[in-house]
Amino acid sequence: MLGPVILAASRSDRIRRLISAAPVTRQVVDRFIPGATVDEIVPIVRELTDRGLELTMDVVGEDITTPEQAGAARDAYLELVDRLKQLELGTRAELSVKLSMFGQALPGGHELALANVRPVVEAAAAIGTTVTLDAEDHTTLDSMFAIHEELRKDFPQTGCVIQAYLFRTEADARRLAGNGSRVRLVKGAYKEPAEVAHQSKHEIDKAYVRILKVLVEGEGYPMIGSHDPRLISIAQELAHRAGRKLDEYEFQMLYGIRGDEHLRLAAEGHRMRVYTAYGTDWYGYFMRRLAEKPANLRFFARSILTR
Ligand code: FAD
Repeated sequence: MLGPVILAASRSDRIRRLISAAPVTRQVVDRFIPGATVDEIVPIVRELTDRGLELTMDVVGEDITTPEQAGAARDAYLELVDRLKQLELGTRAELSVKLSMFGQALPGGHELALANVRPVVEAAAAIGTTVTLDAEDHTTLDSMFAIHEELRKDFPQTGCVIQAYLFRTEADARRLAGNGSRVRLVKGAYKEPAEVAHQSKHEIDKAYVRILKVLVEGEGYPMIGSHDPRLISIAQELAHRAGRKLDEYEFQMLYGIRGDEHLRLAAEGHRMRVYTAYGTDWYGYFMRRLAEKPANLRFFARSILTR
């Protein structure tokens, strides 16, 4: 029950101000967002890739209110690409972007987000890597999928995310499961109404498996974004039954969650990509992590109280 309350709170400006100003130790935020600047994140990139993991990098920040902020978000990604170029990791370090951060919710936002994301996709391609468009709340998805389609005309490797909790997703998966596509399937992290999304964990998990089947039996490259041990073993089984080799799909998990499992899957020969977020505007990302596991809230509250 606490999860939806935390997600609702994450949309409140008052609570944002309160939490952002709370004496949160860097240690608490660091568990999920292990750096504030590109200089701080580069050693983490080195450490994780040295351990056999792959990465998808996210610069946090989504609730921007001006085109200038959207431009600054684009520049932050371009700075990141510049640093990744020196590390020569190719697709071992790709990028994840939220179009809201590139201006999607502003007036004329669809065009603005496309104009801001395109140079990032171009820069990523120039260093031999790719970009995946994250899925945000359901009202943004038609625009996200249209931008994805547009980008794929020049950069067919551009990926996107689909969310198992939405009723629409099975049809989206069928549309997206063609040759050359890269699709990350996740359960979904936003507070969505019952008109558009499953509400119970059981229904969401069942939908996840149905959609997973569509992806692994399709011709694209499935990216399985989950920490759920049951879904991970189902995914392994379905991929095996579909005749996929270990490099024909990958697992993805978030930095700071089930780290031992990242290493275990990598050691078994799986491609294991860690979604690694950094930056100073951590509020929305952090609140979604609290909502996914309300026990995290105790950890967070204790850190404030014991200061
Ligand atoms: P759950 O049933 O929630 O969790 C399974 C187990 O994992 C839990 O029992 C717990 O042990 C552990 N766990 C899960 N979450 C946490 C946590 N926050 N803290 C501590 N332990 C935890 N959602 C979107 O809506 N759009 C996106 O673009 C998107 N991108 C994602 C990218 C990646 C790589 C991943 C892994 C997730 C992404 N998500 C995204 C979030 C996703 O929708 C879920 O909210 C999140 O993954 C939790 O679901 P789960 O599949 O891990 O299963």
